[in-house]
Amino acid sequence: MKANDIIKRCASLHDDIDLTYVKEWKKKTGKSAIGFFPVYVPKELIHAAGMLPVGLMGAGDQLEIIRGDAYFQSYICHIPRSTIELAVSGRLDCMDGFLFPAICDVIRNLSGMFQTILEKKYIKYMDYPQNFKRELGGKFYQYEMRDLLSGLSRLTGKNISDEAIRNSIGVYNENRRMIEELYDLRSQSPHLISAYDLYLLTWSSNLLEVTEHTQMLRDYKQAILKTADSVRPQDNVRVVVTGAFCEQPPLMMIKSLELSGCYIVDDDWVLGARYIIGDIKTDGDPLLSLSDAYMYQAVSTASRYEGEQEKGRYLINQVKKRRAEGVIFCAPSFCDPALLERPMLHEALKAANIPYTSMKYAENTGQFQVVKEQSGTFADSIKLWG
Ligand code: SF4
Repeated sequence: MKANDIIKRCASLHDDIDLTYVKEWKKKTGKSAIGFFPVYVPKELIHAAGMLPVGLMGAGDQLEIIRGDAYFQSYICHIPRSTIELAVSGRLDCMDGFLFPAICDVIRNLSGMFQTILEKKYIKYMDYPQNFKRELGGKFYQYEMRDLLSGLSRLTGKNISDEAIRNSIGVYNENRRMIEELYDLRSQSPHLISAYDLYLLTWSSNLLEVTEHTQMLRDYKQAILKTADSVRPQDNVRVVVTGAFCEQPPLMMIKSLELSGCYIVDDDWVLGARYIIGDIKTDGDPLLSLSDAYMYQAVSTASRYEGEQEKGRYLINQVKKRRAEGVIFCAPSFCDPALLERPMLHEALKAANIPYTSMKYAENTGQFQVVKEQSGTFADSIKLWG
């Protein structure tokens, strides 16, 4: 398959707010699907239960919000409104349950609203440790995962064995490795993989069955390497984009950033697909392996506790590793975690002498000229003055 055809398929999955892929998968397999919200859930457990994990990331600009606005005050981000609209319009009826990871008050409230709107569905608010000692936070997280496993078992009527979980850990290790290979390739040769393509490829992990997704990434890599000689690098500035780990930016915004003269060499979009760094152990107690990975092998992001000394260290390392020349803070309007963390990250970048610029968006933003002008000016200023 040609790379363009793969991206076209990813774009149609991205735009399909009626979840046709999920409905067809359920019809074909006779199994259930569990939706989860950003940022991270242990998808391995859903997979081990024989279910399809489905990442739900709002509705972008594809849905007019009519009833969704009635559930929330006006000064919060957009993703919960479009999510409610998806639920009340029946578009999420094909899901058998929902997981709400603890990332902010908005998601916690959304989980309560889902319990009243979709009262017959399995709904779990997934809490995560903010204490990273194995005997405290680790135990707590394993308890949370056992609770999730018993909820999933009630849905399927079957126990989920340790062997099945170890197998699923292996399957997701392979998937993350493949995503990381593409991120590394994009960083080495950003002219070969656009941010738009890589975003859509990663976004597709929200829907596609994991082995199908891994194979699609392999096919894409093979396809672009075949035509690599015909693509020329441009004189763009290398940037890391950060702050967009939950509500996702509109596709046109990603294009606008690129068209303004930036090569995006790393980002935190669809972060759940890359939340764990490296492989998770596939032997021993699988819940211990998953909790150790959550605590000791995870990315840094605003919804995880970090001491003041640590703030910014991960981002600075990311800049160095990707040989980036600057950082674009790009967060959803009213996103408390991202916007509260921003001043601390600004300070860390200033101290490290790394240039940055900051902007905001909503998933349904429709005007990108301002974005293009701001990121274009940022790229020019780096070229001119470093
Ligand atoms: S965009 Fe930010 S504030 Fe809104 S639900 Fe996500 S993490 Fe919470």
